[in-house]
Amino acid sequence: MTGRRPRVVLVGSMNFDCVAKADRLPRKGETVLGTSFGTFPGGKGANQAVQMARLGAEVFMVGRVGDDFMADVVLSSLKSSGVITEYVRRDASVTTGAACIYVDRNGDNMIVIIPQANLACSKEDVEAAGDVIRSAEVLLCQFEIALPTVVHAVTMAARFGVKVILNPAPPATQPLPDGLLAHATILTPNETEAEALSGFPTVPPEANEVDKAAWESRVARSLLSMGPSAVVLTLGERGAYLATREGEGLVPAFPVQAVDVTAAGDAFNGALAVALAEGKALRDAVVFANAAGALAATRPGAQPSLADRDEVEQFLRERRARA
Ligand code: ADP
Repeated sequence: MTGRRPRVVLVGSMNFDCVAKADRLPRKGETVLGTSFGTFPGGKGANQAVQMARLGAEVFMVGRVGDDFMADVVLSSLKSSGVITEYVRRDASVTTGAACIYVDRNGDNMIVIIPQANLACSKEDVEAAGDVIRSAEVLLCQFEIALPTVVHAVTMAARFGVKVILNPAPPATQPLPDGLLAHATILTPNETEAEALSGFPTVPPEANEVDKAAWESRVARSLLSMGPSAVVLTLGERGAYLATREGEGLVPAFPVQAVDVTAAGDAFNGALAVALAEGKALRDAVVFANAAGALAATRPGAQPSLADRDEVEQFLRERRARA
């Protein structure tokens, strides 16, 4: 590294989230009285970008928003975390991506996502950011924008020799083009996404250690055979399973008192990308990402729950001292 901060480009989604809480979820056609309401900046792309900026990377966000008040909210949150937004296009012909989230007293939810501007994010938007992608250490993408745009960004980065982290979330609704996964330096599905990609049904949470480990190894190898250089399965409170052609194994989670696991996966992916961009060895990068994921699980909300660099380093020091 030549003194400059590691550069990461994120091509992905931004959403305006509305969260309404009520004792119970309404039935079809029913109206219930709620107990609280709030609006929050969100979207996997924006959350991961915020996490990376808080960890000290130079982060360029590439994506699309509408020309509306929701865009102002989403962009001001990115900017205040230090994310560079000059490649986010405002498009007056669509509304900013949004999510309506209903949560009951048990934490069960019902969500409607309206992707809008996220689906309008195009290959041309990626082309416009070609110079920063070429000069980046890492490109990070998810599946919350149009698939052809993801394919274009990933292919471009691979052509430039830029490392790619592909977080296949949420599961793609159409078949992935041949060769896409082979461009990924690291593929990072959670259990549901790993099941969708591999076709191996997840084992139930009450399954024993041997069955869980067998599933993790089988799925990781199957995904590895699709071409990425490494597979990192995120496994919630179990941690993450790292597999490369040289070896594989569980990188255990840091035990914490989880309060709200929203955005734990986004924290993990953002931190993994920063660690990779800094040149950390893969296993060390996964440990760093486990720390960011664990911290996000201990705090409520999405973007407010994402830790900064000092917090992650401090957490790692404390946990090492305990070990
Ligand atoms: P997603 O939110 O995408 O489903 P996971 O639930 O697998 O992703 O969480 C991502 C990462 O966050 C995990 O791999 C782990 O490092 C961390 N994490 C999540 N939940 C916990 C938890 N309860 N305790 C400790 N770490 C956690």
